Amino acid sequence: MARGISTKCIHLEEDEQCSKNYGAISYPIYQTATYAHTGVGKSTGFDYSRLQNPTREHLEKIVANLENGIDALAFTTGMAAITLLMELFGPEDHLIVDADLYGGSIRLFHNVSKKNGITFSSIDCHKEDVASYVNEHTKAIYIETPTNPMMNVTDIRAMAKISKERGILLIVDNTFLSPYFQNPLDAGADIVVHSGTKYLGGHNDTLAGFLVTNREDIREKFRFLIKTTGAGLSPFDSWLILRGMKTLGIRMERAQQNALEIAEWLVRQQSVTKVIYPGRKEHPGYEVMKKQSRGFGAMITFQLESRDFALSILERVRMIKFAESLGGVETLITYPVTQTHADVPEETREKNNITESTLRMSVGIEDIKDLIHELAEVFGETEEELYGRKES
Ligand SMILES: *Cc1c(COP(=O)(O)O)cnc(C)c1O
Repeated sequence: MARGISTKCIHLEEDEQCSKNYGAISYPIYQTATYAHTGVGKSTGFDYSRLQNPTREHLEKIVANLENGIDALAFTTGMAAITLLMELFGPEDHLIVDADLYGGSIRLFHNVSKKNGITFSSIDCHKEDVASYVNEHTKAIYIETPTNPMMNVTDIRAMAKISKERGILLIVDNTFLSPYFQNPLDAGADIVVHSGTKYLGGHNDTLAGFLVTNREDIREKFRFLIKTTGAGLSPFDSWLILRGMKTLGIRMERAQQNALEIAEWLVRQQSVTKVIYPGRKEHPGYEVMKKQSRGFGAMITFQLESRDFALSILERVRMIKFAESLGGVETLITYPVTQTHADVPEETREKNNITESTLRMSVGIEDIKDLIHELAEVFGETEEELYGRKES
């Protein structure tokens, strides 16, 4: 019987002989750089931790299992994973990338990958005719769904159909939903990217990244590249992500439930001009998400009536923190214009409707009544003061 996702976050079937690791319930941290050989030409399977380490390998197997891939590789950060991924491509290669991506990915593509001779077409994959951008040099389509921060939803199966017909790769950054809510490989993607710093780790305490694939040829290239370039995750950080992942299921469920309530609350605020949450039926991507995902996640983007009001919210939150990042147990509010998307060219930002009055919230797992209470205070006080000032 196929095991459920929450079980797969905790247990690896192949590791279930009790005698292993003295029966330790928590997987040990093998804090070692190198390994002794039992003889010339013999190996325990581990030779040097840049290549592989038992703790990292255990984590990689759990992530591969969750994404239904044949292999997963754990990196020091999400950006290290994407940087290694770009080593699959070289001069004259062309990639179709979504226009609304994580800011760090845009910065990497335009400031680092370009100098290696790779060219990009940034398009709105959820609404443009993606196939018409494929040319003889095109090697891959790279998407996030939902996107960061505008929460556009792209049909993964539709992208996979194009990539299969044209013999190119489909790469999906699955950070926003985690494998608990979405499995792009099952929908036809070739490679899945994760920032493990976010939901997988889940506690805003550790950076990590992953690449997952179900293709033998790609797995071989990745294994060669990680041993050559050396950004594999350390044993201790691997253990921290392993520990965080044990509660992935209950964290995702709770965060999503909170997010839905907050989205509905935001809709009722006069000072909020737009609420973008794909779990609301009004969201244009709602139906596609129902088909390709098991949930909608806990990220909300919203527009305020003015820049001043947006800034005042950032200054007034107390329990909710004004901070970059997402996917942890703590609720965070981000200002995309100066934080995650500061290095994205202004014209791109404007095209994506990321304005100075746009805020993004990563909803955590606190008690919903406390979150709403704080939001009510933050919004209420500010509105009152703003209007008080206007009147006087
Ligand atoms: C954070 C993030 C990344 C980069 O991951 P790091 O761990 O911060 O390097 C990539 N993609 C998405 C969608 C992210 O949110």
